[in-house]
Amino acid sequence: MNYAIVLAGGKGQRFGNAKVMKQFVELTGIPMLVYSLQTAQKNNNIDEICVVTHESEQEKVKAWSKEYGITKLKYFATPGKERQQSVYSGLLALPAKPRDTVIIMTSVCPFVSQKTIDKQYEQIRSNDASITVVKATDAITFSNDGKKVNRTLQKKKLYIQQGPQIFRYGVLLEGHKVYMEDEDYNRLDVTEDSELVLNLGVECAMVLGDRFCIKVTYPEDLAIAESLLGLFEEQERRYEAEKNH
Ligand code: C5P
Repeated sequence: MNYAIVLAGGKGQRFGNAKVMKQFVELTGIPMLVYSLQTAQKNNNIDEICVVTHESEQEKVKAWSKEYGITKLKYFATPGKERQQSVYSGLLALPAKPRDTVIIMTSVCPFVSQKTIDKQYEQIRSNDASITVVKATDAITFSNDGKKVNRTLQKKKLYIQQGPQIFRYGVLLEGHKVYMEDEDYNRLDVTEDSELVLNLGVECAMVLGDRFCIKVTYPEDLAIAESLLGLFEEQERRYEAEKNH
């Protein structure tokens, strides 16, 4: 079985909208979470979906699923304080076996392409973990205190992580368990699943995603997302036509 976990349990504090949580804000009249649900629904590799969101939001998500025909939505899980804990909660909600796959998506990246997801399912045939990245176009500066530069990293070897990430279920679950049980490691404040599986000594592959697959974090990102929607839809149409050819 191939499961998708869609994370929608954040508070969206940087978004600054107290009334509607970021993941439920509308993008051209459709709640942002629904974009990710439609993407998972459409992809033939994905069998079942689990949404991680607060209990108070679950009825609303169920109603949207009905409205938008998301028949693969089978499970809910409640979020943890940090993203990492929300992923773990989603993993525990699935009746999965170790060799099943789990693809982690967020509710705040509405433009994940079918091609990227298909590429991830190709990767998972020969790797137990794979993430989506784009090449960094700017140098990245590391600063411990936010005031002085400690290091500036070479952009030639830098990649920026995007969603989705895919794992063998048993590998990701083990990565989380080891992280939680190891006090020293736990203090490192790890937020990415790829880090957890690398800690197990598992190799993690990379798939190149799309540069326009932005993450909606700040209110101004919504306007950028709206302007990119046409580009995304056109690309999806072209990919579908290629596949059916
Ligand atoms: O906080 P950030 O923007 O990185 O969140 C990425 C995704 O993880 C969002 O879809 C958010 O709803 C989700 N999240 C979560 N539980 C948390 C924090 C974030 O499900 N505790």
